[in-house]
Amino acid sequence: MIKVAVTGAAGRMGGRIITLVTETEGLQVAGAVEMAGHPKLGEDAGYVAGCGDLGIKITDSLEQALADADVLVDFTWPEVTLANAAVCAKLNKAMVVGTTGLKPEQREVIEAIAAKIPVVFAPNMSVGVNVCFKILKEIAATLGEGFDVEIVELHHKMKKDSPSGTAVRMGEIVAEALGRDYNQVANYHREGMCGERTQEEIGMQTVRGGDIVGEHTVYFVGMGERIELTHRAMSRDMFARGAIRAAGWLAGKPAGLYDMQKVLGLE
Ligand code: NAD
Repeated sequence: MIKVAVTGAAGRMGGRIITLVTETEGLQVAGAVEMAGHPKLGEDAGYVAGCGDLGIKITDSLEQALADADVLVDFTWPEVTLANAAVCAKLNKAMVVGTTGLKPEQREVIEAIAAKIPVVFAPNMSVGVNVCFKILKEIAATLGEGFDVEIVELHHKMKKDSPSGTAVRMGEIVAEALGRDYNQVANYHREGMCGERTQEEIGMQTVRGGDIVGEHTVYFVGMGERIELTHRAMSRDMFARGAIRAAGWLAGKPAGLYDMQKVLGLE
C-alpha cells in the first residue's frame, strides 16, 4: 500500500486528489495539509473533499502529515512548494509537484532537491497534454522555419499565474525543436504600433474567465495553410489521476527529477 499525503487539501486540485486516491487500488491517504489559519484545519480531509470521512484530520504540520506517508502530492503555490520540498528532502519522502508558475530560480531549487529524493515535476499531469508535448516536438521539427508559432491558452478566472505552465512548456518544446531559446523568443505582449512579428518569435496569449478548466492551442501558421493543435480539459480529474499515477510510479524509484513523459512511458 502506497501512503499519500496531500498539501492544499482544501484546494481545487487537493480535494480531487484526495477523493481519487480513495478510489485507487494500492494507494491510501495518509495525511492532509492546509496553510496555517485555514478554516478547514482540524476537519476530516475526506469530508472536506466530499468523499466521506477518512479519519484523517487536515493539519498545518507537514511533518505530522508525512509521518506515515511515502509520498507527498503538492498542488499549491510556488513558495509553499519550495518549503514543502525542503521538508520532503529532510524526511526522505518522495514528492509529486503539480504547482505551476515557478520562476527559473525556483525550478532550480526543485532540481537541487531532486538530487536527494525522487520528484515528479510536471506543469500538466494529463495524458492528453503529454501526448501533445510529444507530437508538438515532431510537428515543429518537421515544419521547420516558415511557420509562425502562436500559443493561446484559456483558464478560469481564479488562476493566479499567466501564461499557464503548460503553455510555457509547449513554447519551450517548440523553441527547442527549432533551435531557439524560448526566453529570447517568447512574446507575451503586443499593443499599439509594435511592428510586424518576427519570424523567430513565439506569441503567448492568455484568456481568463469563468470556470474554464484549461484549454491550449498551438498554431503553426504558414502562407496559405495552418495547423492547430488543441487540447481541452473538461474536468480537473485527469490532472488528479495523472498525479496519482505519478505517486504510484515513484515508489521505489531512486532520487532524481522525473516528468510525466517518463511516468507515462512517452520517451
Ligand atoms: P487552489 O488555490 O484551489 O489550491 C491551493 C491550495 O493550497 C489552497 O487550498 C491553499 O490554501 C493551499 N495552501 C496554501 N499554502 C499552503 C501551505 N503552506 N500548506 C498547505 N496548503 C497550502 O489552486 P488549484 O486550482 O488547486 O491549483 C494549485 C496549483 O496546481 C496551481 O499552481 C495550478 O496552476 C496547479 N495545477 C497544476 C496542474 C497540473 O497538471 N500540473 C493541474 C491543475 C492545476
